[in-house]
Amino acid sequence: MPSPKRFIAGAVCPRCAEMDKITMHTTDDDDQVRECVACGFTDAVSEQPKPEVAELETRVNKRANTDDHTVQQVVFFKAGQED
Ligand SMILES: [Zn+2]
Repeated sequence: MPSPKRFIAGAVCPRCAEMDKITMHTTDDDDQVRECVACGFTDAVSEQPKPEVAELETRVNKRANTDDHTVQQVVFFKAGQED
């Protein structure tokens, strides 16, 4: 059955390397197709999920957490005196 497009959390486009831009949907022929909304990249996916895909998502999720920590490390500096 055809399914609506849904985003794959943490997935990175193999072409433009944008994160969270990959959608996955199933065609009338029961083929799974992933598509990047950022650059238009499309890729047909076989019925059996590839192990390397899951591994990629895990790695991406870890990297996203690291980014969060980086954002919280705000560097403060003294403003110039204006007397
Ligand atoms: Zn892309």
